[in-house]
Amino acid sequence: MYQQHGPGALLGMRTNGDAAQAVVSLRCGEDVHGAIDMPVALCLRLLRQAAGIHRAGLKSYGLLITEPGTAGYPFAASDVVFLDSRKNRRNDPGHRAAFRAQGSYFRQFDDAGFVADSAELLAVCRAIEDSGREIVAPFHSHRRQPANFSLIDYRLHNPAFAWHLIISLRDPHRPVLQPFGVHKDPSDFGISDQDACQGSELAYQGPEVKPLALVAHGSRRALCRLTATLYPKNAPDGADGMTRPPESSHQGLPTAHGPVPAWAPANGDIHGNQCDDVLRLSGLHGYR
Ligand SMILES: [Zn+2]
Repeated sequence: MYQQHGPGALLGMRTNGDAAQAVVSLRCGEDVHGAIDMPVALCLRLLRQAAGIHRAGLKSYGLLITEPGTAGYPFAASDVVFLDSRKNRRNDPGHRAAFRAQGSYFRQFDDAGFVADSAELLAVCRAIEDSGREIVAPFHSHRRQPANFSLIDYRLHNPAFAWHLIISLRDPHRPVLQPFGVHKDPSDFGISDQDACQGSELAYQGPEVKPLALVAHGSRRALCRLTATLYPKNAPDGADGMTRPPESSHQGLPTAHGPVPAWAPANGDIHGNQCDDVLRLSGLHGYR
């Protein structure tokens, strides 16, 4: 379980006129090996939409998208598509038993897991491809668990993608956005009803998964709205907080356009046939 830190310790806000950026994820420091860059507006939309789905008693799952040629690619996102949570196929025959084989948590909570509807996923992928944009990563919400990347998250992560965003809504008043770099062999994929696992909801401990920092950029006003959403108790109040000068604590934080981690696949691994990569693995997008 991660410790929450106040924004003073964590959010080194860099400003340039009205433009600002800050690390808004929980994880930063020595164990973070890179960063994801996102507009503040996208972060706010992710939180708002996932919270609404959470209030409806459902889990979120979707795809993060970027424009071709974006700096930092594929470690940057500019847009998102939520799949329809009402079409979650997790409890369809053929999937339900595989989830129940992952431990008592998955037998207790039948909303623990997401399996994309293959027809919807195909339509979404085609629409993204037709728009000339590219899928860079999946995301999903955790309804009860912290913002870790779990054993089952690892097993079901599509290896075509170098990272994955978790939105923890365990405390809906203190949501968490936390990206993870994931490097895994394409053959290492999937769950089965023949599994006899326990504790698959717990954090994956292997070297293939590393936390990344999430760097949000936008106007100072929007960035303050985001930090107030993520860190409500310590969020700055009013105009004074919003015009706060940059803090020195940002020194040494990872930047969105820093060195690409050595484990990242070449761009072509994701760019080429991205829909094929997603669809080849469709029906197995199950996340706790
Ligand atoms: Zn998960």
